[in-house]
Amino acid sequence: MGLEKYKKIRDFEKTSEPAGGVGSGDEALFVVQKHDASSLHYDLRLSFDGVLKSWAVPKEPPTKTGVKRLAIMTEDHPLTYATFEGTIPKGQYGGGTVEIYDSGTFELEEREDKKIVFVLKGRKLSGKYVLLKFQKAGDNGWLFFKAD
Ligand code: MN
Repeated sequence: MGLEKYKKIRDFEKTSEPAGGVGSGDEALFVVQKHDASSLHYDLRLSFDGVLKSWAVPKEPPTKTGVKRLAIMTEDHPLTYATFEGTIPKGQYGGGTVEIYDSGTFELEEREDKKIVFVLKGRKLSGKYVLLKFQKAGDNGWLFFKAD
């Protein structure tokens, strides 16, 4: 995907979000950002291939097994977005406040087109998690849940 879409939909004269920043691909960072935009959601981001692969999760991420959350894949974000917090101005894409809900590292166990398994090492989210393609929710639909 790359950062073309990320850059295209933002005006960096107006938003304080990072304008770019690609990593080496060796990073294994995750962040969940609580984003109080037009509707409150949680943005899950995992570093893959030097960028942050991103999913918008409409409800609080699960800390226990048995809870499945819808996760809508969104545009790749720059690696430097992992530490971003602040207010995106009203009228700009994603206008609202962004705060870090949790962050840390992860270990990748499995990465396929329709399934990603990873172990999160955060303060709130820790243990094995799964992202599973969920076509019923559209082309960008996934499910996010904690594995047994
Ligand atoms: Mn968001």
